[in-house]
Amino acid sequence: MPDHILAIDQGTTSTRAIVFDLSATSVASAQVELTQHFPQPGWVEHDPIEIAEAAVSVANQAISRANLSPDDIAAIGITNQRETTVVWERETGRPVANAIVWQDRRTAEICRDILKTDHAENIRKITGLVVDPYFSATKLMWLLTTIPDGQARAESGELCFGTIDSWLLWHLTAGQVHATDASNASRTMLLNLHDLQWDPEMLELFNIPEQMLPEVKSTADDFGDTDRSIFRTDIPITAMAGDQHAALYGQACLKNGQIKCTYGTGAFVLANKGTMVPTQSSGLGDAGLLATLGFQVGTKKTYAIEGSVFVTGATIQWLREGLGVISNAPETVDMALSAGTNDGVYFVPALVGLGAPHWQPEATGLITGLTRGTDRNHIVRAALESTAYQVKDVVGAMEAGSQKSNQSLRADGGQSTNPFVMQFQADILDQVVEVADINETTALGAAFLAGRGIGMWRSDSEIASLWKASAVYEPSMSESERMSLYSGWLEAVRQATPRISNL
Ligand code: ADP
Repeated sequence: MPDHILAIDQGTTSTRAIVFDLSATSVASAQVELTQHFPQPGWVEHDPIEIAEAAVSVANQAISRANLSPDDIAAIGITNQRETTVVWERETGRPVANAIVWQDRRTAEICRDILKTDHAENIRKITGLVVDPYFSATKLMWLLTTIPDGQARAESGELCFGTIDSWLLWHLTAGQVHATDASNASRTMLLNLHDLQWDPEMLELFNIPEQMLPEVKSTADDFGDTDRSIFRTDIPITAMAGDQHAALYGQACLKNGQIKCTYGTGAFVLANKGTMVPTQSSGLGDAGLLATLGFQVGTKKTYAIEGSVFVTGATIQWLREGLGVISNAPETVDMALSAGTNDGVYFVPALVGLGAPHWQPEATGLITGLTRGTDRNHIVRAALESTAYQVKDVVGAMEAGSQKSNQSLRADGGQSTNPFVMQFQADILDQVVEVADINETTALGAAFLAGRGIGMWRSDSEIASLWKASAVYEPSMSESERMSLYSGWLEAVRQATPRISNL
């Protein structure tokens, strides 16, 4: 009996595959970097063929490193960079252009034009998203109007659209299945978040022919079997999920109110919001958080609220490469501790503007509170603390108008290995922070979902029992210290963004 699950994690900078066993332990993995194409300033592209070939190659490598054969794999789960847009020919399977990556800003003007109309509010109500080039709809619109006869070919059914999950599924099933899952679909700005169907009003607004769209399925579902030409055997594909959605599941945030934060280059905070579409009064607020489908297992929909902070771990990279005050990331722990306190120093790392909940693209970074006694340890400490403050801003916006969650925050990603940051996070949130034992929560989530899809794990509680923490941080800061530190942070953010007055 096959008793392993293969997770394929197709990310922005690399493609990974991890084999998990029945106890959700990672047995073997493989990874390959992905070429980034920057044809013009603000444009970011990937080669879809490179992505498809890399996925099969890392999958084969991971299986053989685990000393298994493809016959030992019970199911495959796919998780992927979200929003990235691919268009290919139905007949030949050939992409008509490079994939337009989520970071690509070429459709900024289209978005500015939409924002001038009264569509923006409706888009938010229907899709849960704010109008931004980030999402797939304007990227697809751009492709159809740019490639020769694009619109006509799409209307005649010659062309297929997909996010990376759909594209990989098409490739792995040798063109037999054109489908996506509801979490990926909820990032296209074409999906109605309420009924999880393509929305006729959005399709009309963006001029997208429905015949080019994939079928929307649940996150854990029957997506068909891999074609025998791929692994010489047919393996069921039983889950697909956007990366942050998979991470929410991988962190076993399965109950309403549970929150996870992935601390990488930036920080992605997602909160499980239960079975109802999040509204302004249930935590969405008007602070620029997004409503999204968390995941759908069977017919049960779980919604989520999302807030993205652009620069967290990248601050540490900047200290090393830009400022040259540290030589590696782990040494920041001792430096921060030796500073003793922040000594009034705050670092607002608005190095690429500020994301949620501020959404101030023109904000610039600053370090405030410098005195003659400030040394580099204070600056390093302020940089580490800025991660925790920014995550608190998002969690606070999520809690505005609803009750403060008494659940722990579940952490993963590069900075979650930094005990100073995690302790300060617990202190400043006044909330327990638990770091996941398996740092690859995205792949783990895809594996969990695929295991649910094939019936290897039968319930949410079974998944919850497989989740383990590697470290738990309890808050130990007094209320007065917390208030005083946080108000200092808010003052610094105000200085970075003079237009923010209502924090
Ligand atoms: P991504 O998936 O976005 O590439 P990772 O989860 O691999 O990110 O995390 C890498 C980021 O975390 C880097 O920006 C790095 O500076 C930061 N980082 C890694 N280890 C530490 C550490 N011990 N202390 C502080 N920051 C760290």
